[in-house]
Parts: sequence; C-alpha cells; structure tokens
Amino acid sequence: MVFRSHMDLALAEARAAAVRGEVPVGAVIARDGAIIAQAGNRTRELNDPTAHAEMLAIRAACAALGQERLTGCDLYVTLEPCPMCAAAISNARIARLYYAAADPKSGGVAQGPRIFTHPQCHHRPEIYDGISTAEAEQLLRDFFAAKR
Ligand SMILES: [Zn+2]
Repeated sequence: MVFRSHMDLALAEARAAAVRGEVPVGAVIARDGAIIAQAGNRTRELNDPTAHAEMLAIRAACAALGQERLTGCDLYVTLEPCPMCAAAISNARIARLYYAAADPKSGGVAQGPRIFTHPQCHHRPEIYDGISTAEAEQLLRDFFAAKR
C-alpha cells in the first residue's frame, strides 16, 4: 500500500525532527508513487517560522522538478497542515493531501479557518485524513511530555 509506506517515511522524518529538538512533524511529496521530496520541521534550526515540514518539502519538490507548481503530486504529512501550509499546498496545486493527526490547536484544514473551503481558495486538493493517526499522535505526545 503506497500511501501507507509514504506516511511511514513522513513519520520517520517526524521522528528525526524530534531528535533535533523540533516539533515532530514530517512530510513527503510523491508523484506517480515516486518520492520527490521529504522533510521534517526545522523552524528552530533555521530560525524560520515558515520552515514547517510541508513548506520545506514543497520548496524541495519544486526545486527538484524545476517548476513552481506540483500538479499531480501527493503530499503526506503527519499532522493536519496549519493555515500557512494549507495555502501553500493550494498555491502549489498539489493533487492529494494525506495527513495523520488532527491539530485542534493550529490546524487549518478541518478546523480553524478551513482554508480549502474558503471562497478565495482557488485549488482544493483531495483530502484523506486519519492515516497512521495513532503513531503521529503518540510522537507528538511523547515530544511534549518530555518538554514538561
Ligand atoms: Zn504549517
């Protein structure tokens, strides 16, 4: 099952982010089943509040393909994208979004501003949530428990 193994890779990126002291979120971009980019959160390392896993993966995938859009690409991410990343996903014309854990605090897809249903949103990906949710939630819980 391709979507499962790609989410497993996103989870591995999330785990690597936790080791770096970053909030454990990982993302993978694939096209026709082949991985084009993968990334984990690097906001602390880069001193960059936009360095979310999805943003880094989108930048890397666009650079790899030499284009400003990711038409036909799939994005796998371990946490519901925030409004910034959801807007970037829309601008990148990503075809399908797969995410694991819901994010009641900062999510912008199924809650909060619900970017993809906003009238100013010109491209809405197909959305599949609830993939590997338990693993992603456990990673986040462990990370924040260790912080306390
Ligand atoms: Zn984000």
